[in-house]
Amino acid sequence: MSVNFLIQKAKEIQVVIDANAAEIEKLDQEIGDGDHIFNVQRGIKLVIELEPTIKDLPISKALNQIAMKVLSGIGGSSGALFGTLFMTMAKGSEIDEGIDFKKAIEIFAEGVDAVKLRGKADVGEKTMMDVLIPVSNCLKKGLEENKDKNEILIEAVAVAEKGMLSTKDLLATKGRASFLGERAKGHIDPGARSSQLMIKTVCESVNS
Ligand code: ADP
Ligand code: MG
Repeated sequence: MSVNFLIQKAKEIQVVIDANAAEIEKLDQEIGDGDHIFNVQRGIKLVIELEPTIKDLPISKALNQIAMKVLSGIGGSSGALFGTLFMTMAKGSEIDEGIDFKKAIEIFAEGVDAVKLRGKADVGEKTMMDVLIPVSNCLKKGLEENKDKNEILIEAVAVAEKGMLSTKDLLATKGRASFLGERAKGHIDPGARSSQLMIKTVCESVNS
C-alpha cells in the first residue's frame, strides 16, 4: 500500500459515493439531520486535494495528514470517527517499511478498534460499526485461516453488505437516530451505507 494507492482509492470512492449520494442523503434525512452525505463528500474531496502535499511523504506521515484533514475539515460524528480511523492507521508499527495485505488488515483492524472506543458503539447499535466491526473480524479471520486473498476480499464485501442491511431493523442506541426510538426502525443507517460502499469499492478494486 502506497500513498498513491490511497489517493487512487479516494478517487474511486468519490465516484461511487457521488453515484449513491441521493440515497445516502435521504437516509440521513430520515433518521439523522441530513448532513451525512455532505460530510462524506467533503472529506473525500479534502483527501484528494491533499495529493500534491502528501504524494512524496512516507505513508505514516501521509496517513497522519489525511487524519488531521478529516478531523478538522468534516463536521458531524463521521469526521471524528473517520479521523480516528486514519490517525490510528498512521501509528501502525513500522508501516513505512511497507504495507502488504497482512499489514493493511492489521492496521485497519487497529483503526476500527480505536473508532469503537471513540464512539463507544458496538455491533447492534445501528451505526457504521455494524459494517466496520464485522468486516474487520472477517479480514482478521481470513488471515488466521490462511485463506486466499481474493476469497477474503469477496467475503469482506458480502459481510459489509449484510452488516449494512442489518441496521434496517435495529433500534438506534447511539448518535442522532437514537432520539427517534422505534421510529428509526425500517431505515438503513446512513453511516453504515456509506462505509459499506467504501469497503466494497476498495475490496473490489484490490481484487481485480
Ligand atoms: P452527525 O450524526 O453528527 O450528523 P453524520 O451525519 O456525518 O454526523 O454521521 C452520522 C453517522 O455517524 C450515523 O449514520 C452513524 O453511522 C455514525 N455514528 C453516529 N454516532 C456514532 C457512534 N457513537 N459510533 C459510531 N458511529 C456513529
Ligand atoms: Mg448527520
